Amino acid sequence: MTVRVRFAPSPTGMFHVGGARSALQNWIYAKQQGGVFVLRVEDTDAARNKPEWTEGILSALDWIGISRGSYEGPHFQSENAGEHRAAAARLYESGRAYYCDCTREDVQARTGSQYQGYDGYHRDRDLGPGPGRALRFRTPDEGATVVVDLIRGEPTFENRLIEDFVIARGDGSPVFLLANVVDDMTMGITHVIRAEEHLPNTPKQQLLWDALGVKPPVWAHVPVVVNEKRQKLSKRRDKVALEAYREEGYLADAMRNYLMLLGWAPSGDREIVPWSVIEEEFRLEEVNPSPAFFDEKKLRAFNGEYIRALPVAEFIDACQPWLTGTGTIAPPPWQPEEYDVEAFAAVAPLAQTRLAVLSEIVPNVDFLFLASPLIDEAAWTKTMKDGSAELLDDAVAAFEALESWDAESLKSTLEAVGADRGLKLGKTQAPVRVAVTGRTIGLPLFESLEVLGRERTLTRMRAARLRLV
Ligand code: GLU
Repeated sequence: MTVRVRFAPSPTGMFHVGGARSALQNWIYAKQQGGVFVLRVEDTDAARNKPEWTEGILSALDWIGISRGSYEGPHFQSENAGEHRAAAARLYESGRAYYCDCTREDVQARTGSQYQGYDGYHRDRDLGPGPGRALRFRTPDEGATVVVDLIRGEPTFENRLIEDFVIARGDGSPVFLLANVVDDMTMGITHVIRAEEHLPNTPKQQLLWDALGVKPPVWAHVPVVVNEKRQKLSKRRDKVALEAYREEGYLADAMRNYLMLLGWAPSGDREIVPWSVIEEEFRLEEVNPSPAFFDEKKLRAFNGEYIRALPVAEFIDACQPWLTGTGTIAPPPWQPEEYDVEAFAAVAPLAQTRLAVLSEIVPNVDFLFLASPLIDEAAWTKTMKDGSAELLDDAVAAFEALESWDAESLKSTLEAVGADRGLKLGKTQAPVRVAVTGRTIGLPLFESLEVLGRERTLTRMRAARLRLV
């Protein structure tokens, strides 16, 4: 039997990191089993679906390594509507489903409870099809439905506690629960690996498989992803869109490595490992069923490590979208013609060790490309003290006299200016840094001045001096 797994997102919003995690787990499982990964876009909720969300899912999957053309699909649930209706009709004809025209109020009036499920009123009333009549599945009165789940063992659900649930609405349209089963069936899916949130649906879905006469798939419900307060990650509260992480400058390799650690770990005391190791070592059966904490701080630290491990040339390339404002990434504060890739390449190795996310490159190098630096006023006030004006005068004079404009000479020259006033280098360089870059922190100063060049450095120092008059 060829293993066939599917990832079945609904295009109702930005692609969620939890979805990306499930997609990767499906992807690896298929690869390990020599199976097939199917992408199915569940687009039958017409009110909430938008084509751009589908495109967002495809491009996000591509970004984390599930590239277009390397899987089966995308198939669209809406294309299978005929099969969904045919299955509903078969269930009715075989007596496994019946029509019902009760409203919620009718059921509540009969049961006297607002919370109770459907009471089976039309089970044996032979209502027959008609407008406004929903089709309900006749659940067994006895026995139990045992779900075979690779992660959770055998969750068992008593059938008498499962109400006669709706499978097609009053307008004849099949509900999601049925469409999802019929799609898995027609696509020959053998393993359903999906989020824990769907576990409550699973006994109902398995009853549908049985009633339609097909052996159900093996299930694997992967843990819910939670924030630091142990709340399920939600788009209203948390940063959940994979695209948001991409735009902030997370590397795809760091992201997918981190996502695979939600509920699982590679052998030894390792967390940061090459993708090939994850593909080899990952075991779906070893995934911890408890909620998985999505720790953004840890992800940032991971990303910093991945950035530092890049060859410099790759780091330079990886930064370009933020330096040029490509695609959906916000444009940098300088004019495009002011950007100089060679100047950037000269400071890139210094920047590479300092970033946690690639977007942080912009404030680190903006001094190089802006006509005049963006002055952080708080930093200015904190740094420019009594004596700063004179110090800048002396530094300008000493820099003007320099024969060679290089980091070494700049450093020893400024060191000497400070020593004359009994100042350590740290104190001496602070006003120069703020004058030239506008900030108190940033790349190593003397290398920065070397790349910025004599003329621009001196112009900025003189301008700062004038402000201090
Ligand atoms: N379309 C469903 C969702 O996005 C997935 C259902 C499934 O995986 O079975 O939550």
